[in-house]
Amino acid sequence: MSKFWSDAIRDLTPYVPGEQPKVSNIIKLNTNENPFGPSPKVTHAIHSFESNKLRKYPDPDSTSLKNTLADYYNVSSNQVFVGNGSDEVLAHAFMAFFRQKEPLLMPTITYSFYDVYCNLYNINYEHIPLGDDFSIDLTKYQRPNGGIIFANPNAPTGKALTLDAIEGLLNTNTESVVIVDEAYVDFGAQSAVSLINKYPNILVIQTFSKSRSLAGMRVGFALGNAELIEGLERVKNSFNSYPLDMLAQDTAIAAIQDEQYFQETTQQIISTREWTTVQLESIGFNVVPSKTNFVFATHRYLPGAELMGFLRTHNILVRHFSRPGIENHLRITIGTPDEMSAFIDCLKKHPDISTLD
Ligand SMILES: *Cc1c(COP(=O)(O)O)cnc(C)c1O
Repeated sequence: MSKFWSDAIRDLTPYVPGEQPKVSNIIKLNTNENPFGPSPKVTHAIHSFESNKLRKYPDPDSTSLKNTLADYYNVSSNQVFVGNGSDEVLAHAFMAFFRQKEPLLMPTITYSFYDVYCNLYNINYEHIPLGDDFSIDLTKYQRPNGGIIFANPNAPTGKALTLDAIEGLLNTNTESVVIVDEAYVDFGAQSAVSLINKYPNILVIQTFSKSRSLAGMRVGFALGNAELIEGLERVKNSFNSYPLDMLAQDTAIAAIQDEQYFQETTQQIISTREWTTVQLESIGFNVVPSKTNFVFATHRYLPGAELMGFLRTHNILVRHFSRPGIENHLRITIGTPDEMSAFIDCLKKHPDISTLD
């Protein structure tokens, strides 16, 4: 706390990301990173990048990347917005659409960055409780609001909504923007991208950080009606007109161009997730059915914090949230098959864990 801080920053509660340890002998299952490297086409794009180009500013509109994304998702390029990670895209979207008189609605348990943006931008918001099984009931969102946001699949629960449920909401909620954060959609959920030409108020946000293994590069994007995209461009160009650097634009294009690698690696993660779920259940965990690259699990009697500590002493990091209602759950990122075997073997060494009959 400093006397030089404005009141606005004194009252902020910044987001705290999962730990990035500085040592290397750790199995890192705490931040939902992809266990496989990016596509070899990305590696090639990096190696063939001419550093002399860096004396110039990058394309402020990321035109080639937008065109690549537009082709891939079968939309037009004025329906595509790109930013430095989807966190930045989300920040601009909160500023552009959610500073309204009525409250923004979001689930009680979801990506905790949403609350942080509300505090930053002074957005009035309300949490809508989840069902006992962590499901989101979108009929509860049908009331006056200044916007709606949820992650689909949701984080940290891993649960997905159907496209029909989302369309049902859009049919009645016509006066505010609905953001669907699809950070994990490539791991088995249905994307709402197909709805953007039908409903002018849905914005779908995705990222290259998870399914395309480019978390370190910081590339995210939004797809929606051209007028929503123009709103985002207005915020971006009032803040930083050159958000994506040249290498980020080139590598993101290369990642999209390797569909085969994308399919193989996401399928591998999905099958490792299903294996991990069965293994966890066999040693007394309840696992929420996941459509993401992580599982959300709770042991029948061992507290979440204790399990996290036990794993940590064996150099395995998982994410634990102390918020009431989920304090006994662990969010476990799906790593390579070897990492997940080591994780399960480690749990089996816990003195109070045994294999169920
Ligand atoms: C990881 C994640 C993001 C942010 O991803 P970046 O593109 O790396 O900023 C956004 N939303 C959810 C739900 C996430 O899990």
